[in-house]
Amino acid sequence: YESLSVGELANKLGREPSEIIKKLFLLGVMATINQELDKDAIELICAEYDVEVEEEIRIDVTDLEIYFEDPDSDEDEAESATEAIERPPVVTIMGHVDHGKTTLLDSIRDTKVTQGEAGGITQHIGAYQIESNGKKITFLDTPGHAAFTTMRARGAKVTDLTILVVAADDGVMPQTVEAISHAKAAEVPIIVAVNKMDKPSANPDRVMQELTEHGLVPEAWGGDTIFVPISALKGEGIDQLIEMILLVAEVGELKADPKVRAKGTVIEAQLDRGRGAVATLLVQDGTLHVGDPIVVGNTYGRVRAMINDVGRRVKEVGPSAPVEITGLSNVPQAGDRFVVFKDEKTARQIGETRAGEAIQEQRTEKARVTLDNLFEQM
Ligand code: GDP
Ligand code: MG
Repeated sequence: YESLSVGELANKLGREPSEIIKKLFLLGVMATINQELDKDAIELICAEYDVEVEEEIRIDVTDLEIYFEDPDSDEDEAESATEAIERPPVVTIMGHVDHGKTTLLDSIRDTKVTQGEAGGITQHIGAYQIESNGKKITFLDTPGHAAFTTMRARGAKVTDLTILVVAADDGVMPQTVEAISHAKAAEVPIIVAVNKMDKPSANPDRVMQELTEHGLVPEAWGGDTIFVPISALKGEGIDQLIEMILLVAEVGELKADPKVRAKGTVIEAQLDRGRGAVATLLVQDGTLHVGDPIVVGNTYGRVRAMINDVGRRVKEVGPSAPVEITGLSNVPQAGDRFVVFKDEKTARQIGETRAGEAIQEQRTEKARVTLDNLFEQM
């Protein structure tokens, strides 16, 4: 495309033209419905909706894909534009306090560190990857509940599957129920790990009974929930659990295209004294490279260095990989989305606009609070 009118762009984005005009106004551009927009303006607006303008014919929306109509290309060509291939599942572990989430995460990591990297110093970056029979799995190592609530509140979907840990000597507890409702709301499949099976007081039947009351019926009882008895402490049942994760992942047909520009979600971020803003990103599509111009939430930059989950410097990472990056101008928030742009100028422009808007929103918020206080005092 060379250019699009405001009306045409609104149509492609499934928005009202008036909304686009308002957005443009806020970006300092006065426009009418028939006004032709140049490429920069189109990219700015698309970024507002988390839509990335891809090459000449394609734009990506967070979940669905819209194609620009191109008289020269039929649907088949548009299809072949994506080369999605299998990607590793991203797994979170949830469950009641003290039921063994941390022990399980440690146990999986200890027994299944990515081959060839054993001995590498595991670095805490909020997520890690293992490999089993040539298949990778990414585990988010941030507390499952927090990850779900903050990320879901921000509209980010990062988890493909959740492991619900229930201690066999304790049974279903309040946070077990909470975890079930989080996973159900997010439509994420659940595998139950019945933990602490090594304890004499373990009563797995009770766990199954109680979970059945919450809609998780074991296969043995005619349901479709997978239950795996484990001892996270003794490392028992871990292989079976991993096997089941890979099985469920296979059914889910998880795919991503490693050839496109990377996009994904911030897992965690903080300010480091020496390195500046440091963020752990989960790449959900495409491949992220050192040097990529990137917009992350309300900040932007160029990927300066990347460190993987075993503390190694890497130059590129593909779908489902967690990686820690530096090079951002500011610290983003967990749950923020990131998108790589083809040039730094666009990334900066969009990043600065978003940062400006965030400040504006904060001000409005503050002003409102002050006004509210004022009225309360009256
Ligand atoms: P979290 O709060 O869910 O992260 O639970 P932790 O992993 O911190 O475990 C809580 C306690 O249970 C710790 O003392 C663990 O050593 C213990 N624990 C965890 N898994 C097992 C297990 O499989 N068997 C036994 N006997 N103890 C376990
Ligand atoms: Mg813990």
